[in-house]
Amino acid sequence: MQNAWIISIGTELTLGQSVDTNAVWLARRLAEIGHRCDRHITAPDDLEPLVDTLRQAAAQADAVVVSGGLGPTDDDLTRVALARVAGVELAPNARSLAQIRAFFERRGRAMPERNAVQALLPRGAQAIENTCGSAPGVLLRLERALVFALPGVPFEMKRMFERDVAPRLSADSHGDVLLSRRLNCIGKGESDIGELLGDLMRRGANPEVGTTAELGTIGVRINAAGETRAIAEARLEKTEAEARRRLGALVFGRDEETLADAVGALLHACGTTLATAESCTGGLIGKLLTDTPGSSAYFKGAVVAYANEAKVELLGVDPAALRQHGAVSPEVAEQMACGARRRLGADFALSATGIAGPGGGTAAKPVGLVYIGLADGAGVQARELRYGADAPREAIRLRAANTALNLLRLRLLG
Ligand code: ATP
Ligand code: MG
Repeated sequence: MQNAWIISIGTELTLGQSVDTNAVWLARRLAEIGHRCDRHITAPDDLEPLVDTLRQAAAQADAVVVSGGLGPTDDDLTRVALARVAGVELAPNARSLAQIRAFFERRGRAMPERNAVQALLPRGAQAIENTCGSAPGVLLRLERALVFALPGVPFEMKRMFERDVAPRLSADSHGDVLLSRRLNCIGKGESDIGELLGDLMRRGANPEVGTTAELGTIGVRINAAGETRAIAEARLEKTEAEARRRLGALVFGRDEETLADAVGALLHACGTTLATAESCTGGLIGKLLTDTPGSSAYFKGAVVAYANEAKVELLGVDPAALRQHGAVSPEVAEQMACGARRRLGADFALSATGIAGPGGGTAAKPVGLVYIGLADGAGVQARELRYGADAPREAIRLRAANTALNLLRLRLLG
């Protein structure tokens, strides 16, 4: 495959004031047309770092897509940097100038003189027309690399990429494509999953397999390259099947499929229903379940019972159990689940009660201690989870919600 670099320009990006969504979009599109992106570089609106980055790219990349820095102001330095690296002058491009004037005229305005700098191109470069903004793009070869400089405004960049860049790069990729798939897993940590995957994760293999830890779930990414889409797809299928064989029930879904989607599909297939009783998760389990369209077929509802009185009144938790064991206890988790199941007339109920922090922990019951309960017609069980007192509140809540959903998933799988 061809090796592509993405260079995003903007001080607002390097300072973390805005998110570089262009790079994410470009990397995915490049892969689909046979250019594997192996560097994302973010450079500020300053000439030296930009020139430096372009020099490296010129020496090492086959294709480079630059976004940003093509505006009319003094901090827009992409044109200047490209000319410097190419060792040529900037010269006005009459056609681009006319297009910029026409762009302003269509909006009933005269072109501000400042915008004329946008029609300056490094000598020997081609302009890439911008039909939805003033900044033309620039196409030129710098040593090894074919460089496309596009505006930073996301919709302009995307339009120009699809119309002028993608066709050009597709022709260059020798037909190679990179296809990706993600298997979503829960129930073991990244290192255990790595161990199970074994030689599938060998560096440099095709398909290439890698893992990413998210909050309580692990993503297994499979990237397959092939001379054609069909070949890449066949490789992907084969590796996916082998990964699934090794990971078994740890895999709950593929690509965008969530744990709640998977639980929902199982409930639906069994014709059974679910309710939740939520304290520390504050309704998050219900939220995750109802993110799935059509969840009313199996999800009855959530009782968010935060205060002790609510646990007693809405879920029928025994006040004596609260006094004796405390709200964060297996006994109360079990009673919450049973209460929700009864109140909402569901086949299954999940509950969660715990200390999400950052305050409220004690030596006996530290922040991160959560009990989840699962009730069904045959009985109820509670499970203790410990996430560590330094875990952020959001992480504790999401992990608890995911673990509860997974408990039910495994039950439904038998
Ligand atoms: P242009 O090349 O179109 O003139 P610019 O860098 O000169 O771009 P800016 O004013 O810096 O223009 O950016 C225009 C808009 O595009 C801003 O809203 C900016 O946040 C957004 N933008 C620029 N680069 C990116 C990026 N990499 N990802 C997402 N948004 C971006
Ligand atoms: Mg900018």
